[in-house]
Amino acid sequence: MSHEHLDKSFETIAIHAGNTADPLTGAVVPPIYQVSTYKQDGVGGLRGGYEYSRSANPTRTALEENLAALEGGRRGLAFASGLAAEDCLLRALLAPGDHVVIPNDAYGGTFRLFAKVVSRWGVEWSVADTSDPASVRDAITDRTKVVWVETPSNPLLGITDIAAVAEVASAAGAKLVVDNTFASPYLQQPLSLGADIVVHSLTKYMGGHSDVVGGALITNSAEIGEELAYHQNAMGAVAGPFDSWLVLRGIKTLPVRMDRHSENAGKVAEMLTRHAKVTQVLYPGLPEHPGHDVAAKQMRAFGGMVSFRVEGGEQAAVEVCNRTKLFTLGESLGGVESLIEHPGRMTHASVAGSALEVPADLVRVSVGIENADDLLADLRQALG
Ligand SMILES: *Cc1c(COP(=O)(O)O)cnc(C)c1O
Repeated sequence: MSHEHLDKSFETIAIHAGNTADPLTGAVVPPIYQVSTYKQDGVGGLRGGYEYSRSANPTRTALEENLAALEGGRRGLAFASGLAAEDCLLRALLAPGDHVVIPNDAYGGTFRLFAKVVSRWGVEWSVADTSDPASVRDAITDRTKVVWVETPSNPLLGITDIAAVAEVASAAGAKLVVDNTFASPYLQQPLSLGADIVVHSLTKYMGGHSDVVGGALITNSAEIGEELAYHQNAMGAVAGPFDSWLVLRGIKTLPVRMDRHSENAGKVAEMLTRHAKVTQVLYPGLPEHPGHDVAAKQMRAFGGMVSFRVEGGEQAAVEVCNRTKLFTLGESLGGVESLIEHPGRMTHASVAGSALEVPADLVRVSVGIENADDLLADLRQALG
């Protein structure tokens, strides 16, 4: 792994880490090594350590080095999806009888993985309000191995004080996992605040163009890194070469995209707070947001996700989603184009009836990098 970029600023790391010119041709972008196996120079004579692309592939290596550098970690690993990364992490760290603390406001798929999959293998879990470190402490048992945090959270934009929860987790001998998908490493670096492992859905801001599904794990512990790499190879849900290439390409513009996402989202949130049909706006950049001070302390800017509640309940919320013309109605987030959705019926349908149920009048927008005035006009007409 090359560390020569680690002392550089983020924008430089994003473009250069892992992106060394191709040794054979000088191509300035790492080629898509669309290959499964590698010629050996005599039995065991590997060129550059490559023997089979599940174990390692040069395009994936380039992405993994880039990811590690971006999060300030020692080791980055790329997977076929965010949930594949989460599954690998949980199976690497947990055994039957272990306990996990999960947030009361987690991505629906993460919750489903705990509630419907991992629980069948004898792993216990309980829910905490991670925005309150005391609630995390109360949920920890003598079997807790992992504390899971998502900040900002999906879809309620809750903020967790990563450094404070890292102290609580480490005092209990548990590993702190932070899902950094909403912030991206440009806005927030959990490892530097005491987290043990960072999780990403690369599908979102890292890829940034709604054209690839991927996931990542990054850690600064050599020991955890080895354990995760072993499981990545043993379980096999790796990122393919073309997907790795797409994410590596997207990351080069991550800083400029996140600046514009944050700027546009700030304007959207501000307009919504003044709109008569909107009863509540959830955006950590607003001074009245309960997590505003913590977010201002641990984030560079407040990101591109905004949720809001509308007057008239579920039907009114659904109608707003149906009426936008520029905001595309769809799941996912983090692309250059703006998206709108109804979490209760779409992304978070899997948490209905659980402690993680979301309000029925909630609308979530992923604010893209289009012209801000065009975005404001579209939301105004959709609200009526
Ligand atoms: C989308 C998402 C995931 C899951 O990632 P996939 O790439 O869809 O598997 C996990 N966490 C958060 C916060 C997400 O938004």
